Amino acid sequence: MTSIATLGSHCALQVLKGAKDEGFKTILVCEKRRERLYKRFQFIDEYVLVDSFKEVMEQRCANILKENNAIIIPHGTLIAQMDSSEIESIKTPIFGNKWILRWESDRNMKEKLMVESKLKIPQSLPGPEHIKGLTIAKRHGAAGGKGYFLATNQEDYIKKRDKLVRDGIIRGDQDLYLQEYALGVSAYLQYFYSELSGELEFFGVDRRYESDIDGLGRIPAQEQIDVDLIPSFNVVGNSPLVLRESLLEDVYAMGERFVDAAKRLVAPGMPGPFCLEGVYDENGKFTAFEFSARIVAGTNLYVDGSPYSSLLYNEPMSMGRRIAREVKNAESKNSISKIVT
Ligand code: ATP
Repeated sequence: MTSIATLGSHCALQVLKGAKDEGFKTILVCEKRRERLYKRFQFIDEYVLVDSFKEVMEQRCANILKENNAIIIPHGTLIAQMDSSEIESIKTPIFGNKWILRWESDRNMKEKLMVESKLKIPQSLPGPEHIKGLTIAKRHGAAGGKGYFLATNQEDYIKKRDKLVRDGIIRGDQDLYLQEYALGVSAYLQYFYSELSGELEFFGVDRRYESDIDGLGRIPAQEQIDVDLIPSFNVVGNSPLVLRESLLEDVYAMGERFVDAAKRLVAPGMPGPFCLEGVYDENGKFTAFEFSARIVAGTNLYVDGSPYSSLLYNEPMSMGRRIAREVKNAESKNSISKIVT
């Protein structure tokens, strides 16, 4: 009997609740300091206690997971805490395509996949001397927006970069990727692609609440100038959103192009959940500044289903549960190899 495992952070609760609802044994790889929190939830069957998530690569964890015939559901914490080679070295089967996670972590590979998907993307800049308009400086990998900042010219950039270096948040230019700031209404489009049925499902959409950029609007302009702070984009939570129905056609078209591009560039493609992240402009055109090639935390909003998953399923269907359903379907068709790497 297969079991479903994940790391104790990010969207672990939703993932394991969904797995339990689908009848799987659930396993949490849990940092000892967080055991008390997770013990509150009855749907977690077994704990693999660790000091650091990196232990998931080690033999002790691998053995426990193997005994349980476990599949690991990867999420943002895995990517934030391990580099691509470490993730690729994990011996336990990983749901989806673990090779594409390298494309998510590396800004240049990421851009290549987005271009191949024919997504409209903001221009990246080769260096601070090219900053002409509003520009965002972002760290590599899934830093969750921490230490990101805006700059309007090179001088402004240097001042802010140096402060972050002094604060020990970044080492220097090598940690930063510069991109034109895309103006508009932010939207994080959540998808699930089933390799088994060949269907793309649009699952939901959210917005992020990021500190302290989203708090700034509460401060009048004069005080904003006086406090001289460097607002960061650190995600604190997510809020729900529904789109104008007329935007949905394009939502599906973008998702399908992404799935096709992933199949061309990084076998076996994009089985499972992913997210296109960007902004809508005044004409309803989407500019994507980012993708996540795995479940995103914004799906935590929809533990009982979203306004979109409710149109596809006559039962509460979270992204976590949808993943477990795919594992179940794959098992019944003897096709597990199609959905894990
Ligand atoms: P995650 O892996 O959690 O998605 P990340 O560290 O890869 O995060 P991004 O999603 O690229 O970071 O950026 C974090 C935030 O910065 C976004 O949610 C958005 O608010 C803002 N942002 C990033 N790039 C742009 C851009 N080009 N234009 C406007 N805002 C942007």
